[in-house]
Amino acid sequence: MEIEKAYRFKLEPTSEQAKKLAKMAGCGRVVFNDSLDYVLNIIKKSVAITDKKAIYEHLNNLSYQDRKLLKKSFPNSAFLNKQLTSWKKLNHRAWLDDAFTDCLQQRQRDFVKALDEWSKGNRGFPVFRTRKLSHHSTMRFPAPKKQINIQNKHIKLPNGLGLVRYHNSQPVIGELRNATVSLNAVGEWHISIMCLVEIELSTHVPGEMTGIDMGIAKNMTLSTDCCGNEGVFDGVHSFKSYQDKLAIEQRKLSRKTLGSENWKKQKLKVSRLHQRITNIRNDYQHKATSEICKNHAMIICEALKVANMSKSAKGDSENHGKNVAAKSGLNKSILDQGWHELRRQLEYKMRWKGGIYGEVNPRNTSRECACCGHTEKNNRKTQAEFICLSCGHSDNADKNAAKVILNRYLRELEQAA
Ligand SMILES: [Zn+2]
Repeated sequence: MEIEKAYRFKLEPTSEQAKKLAKMAGCGRVVFNDSLDYVLNIIKKSVAITDKKAIYEHLNNLSYQDRKLLKKSFPNSAFLNKQLTSWKKLNHRAWLDDAFTDCLQQRQRDFVKALDEWSKGNRGFPVFRTRKLSHHSTMRFPAPKKQINIQNKHIKLPNGLGLVRYHNSQPVIGELRNATVSLNAVGEWHISIMCLVEIELSTHVPGEMTGIDMGIAKNMTLSTDCCGNEGVFDGVHSFKSYQDKLAIEQRKLSRKTLGSENWKKQKLKVSRLHQRITNIRNDYQHKATSEICKNHAMIICEALKVANMSKSAKGDSENHGKNVAAKSGLNKSILDQGWHELRRQLEYKMRWKGGIYGEVNPRNTSRECACCGHTEKNNRKTQAEFICLSCGHSDNADKNAAKVILNRYLRELEQAA
């Protein structure tokens, strides 16, 4: 079986190379924005709205049908790639001629994909890229096998960048499929690489099955009592203190004059803190998911959708306060990312080892009794306590939910057989 394996390395470019990377990323942003401008002009003709904010509001409130209909008037990436050639001949875009065309064309393909995602209702209409947001500085190499050469201490990049030093933390195996260079908030460049790797599926994977409930108070609760403290991963607490500190520093930032030297200094401080929280979280997630995957042959989680999640954050009856603690936008974004990332890691690590990763419908998992299946809101006495009103089964509420998740999957397997 072939699987995808992802790598991420920190690049250590010389100042000359860093300048060049920044310039390449800048060209990418301009081409993205020009393409977006082109599409917005088409839209302006059909909707008779000129105010930018109003157009975005209009676009993001369109129904699925209207989005699909409007998308028919948009150019495809081949057409935009052709436009790029003529843009380069414009006086004020002449400097695009020095840029790496393959990456610019890829940027347009990514832009068209973003339009696609919008038309499917998966995300908002693409916005203009800005230098101020580091994650807008990115370049993807469409033919990495030809364009990139990974060596022991250096990665050879095209377009005159040459050999760029990198922090080689693990050997890259497999066939190179995808490579993206991007900037983070504290001004460091990284390269993300995706490889196709052939693995042998073992016929017998040792370990047991487990269901996992993800929450806020306890990051992950396993239906089994292994991997650490009775199958409970607290997670969140490890960066709670940093979050408090971040809130303080952000308040300080908001009191400084926008764009002043002091503001810039404080902004960097906030960015560094963000980065540190990210690092701590990444480290925790990788350790936790590796531990769980090592000890289990089958892992089942609740299915989670972006749209569902933002809805439940507002608090609906279905999710009974699972998101109540995530009041601030900051907390919420950290947790949201966390839940998605944990699932992603569990899935690929299980595939890597040849085990099974599955997801079930999250409906009522916290109200259902893992023993008798009786489902009632009042089964859950408190955030932590579950007592079934039908059979009297009592358990920790998260443990019960984790067991329900696993049972649900096993039942589906049985029905399918
Ligand atoms: Zn019961």
